[in-house]
Amino acid sequence: MNIIFFGKPGAGKGTQAKRLAKELKIPHISTGEMFRKAYFKKDKLGIKAHDKYFSKGELVPDSITNELIKKRLNEKDTKKGFILDGYPRTIKQATYLSKMKDLDVVIDLNVSDKTVIRRILGRRTCPKCGRIYSLIEDPKPKKDELCDVCKIKLIKRDDQEKSIIKERLKVYKKVTAPVLKYYLKKGVLKKIDAEQRIDKMYKDIVKSINN
Ligand SMILES: [Zn+2]
Repeated sequence: MNIIFFGKPGAGKGTQAKRLAKELKIPHISTGEMFRKAYFKKDKLGIKAHDKYFSKGELVPDSITNELIKKRLNEKDTKKGFILDGYPRTIKQATYLSKMKDLDVVIDLNVSDKTVIRRILGRRTCPKCGRIYSLIEDPKPKKDELCDVCKIKLIKRDDQEKSIIKERLKVYKKVTAPVLKYYLKKGVLKKIDAEQRIDKMYKDIVKSINN
């Protein structure tokens, strides 16, 4: 099954997509995670994406992201299906993807700006492995503000400022909302209430892909 997770930053895409990928035994492909990993590894592309775009709340240009995704989708493990998280974010990316793969479902996680801001401000990241935790909801770190695996202090990323989150929401509405319309027309869009608790949200997602 080829699935896309859609939704504002902070809607819970990562958590839900990871869980579903595990259950369906298909890879979870997150462009944000791929860029962050590249940044932590001091990879050139990762540093460029972070310094020039992420840290300002801007989107990485289509050409860079498309290239990254093309490489990833050409790997063998995507043959049985995949879950994309954070891609496509623009119409250009959506049309680029349509030439490579057919999609079964596009899941749209619906959430208010207020909830998004609260969730993102409570988010913490491990500076070593890149795992993401939350101080206000699951997945919370097991002990203090330490990474469960690396046992080192979690950090707040520098894109977690209220002003940057608001900028990202503005960009989302302008650039990404038309992509939703695009998938609505194709008849593959399923809307999910993302204000709900994580477990309830997951049940709704599973129901929606089985329908
Ligand atoms: Zn860690």
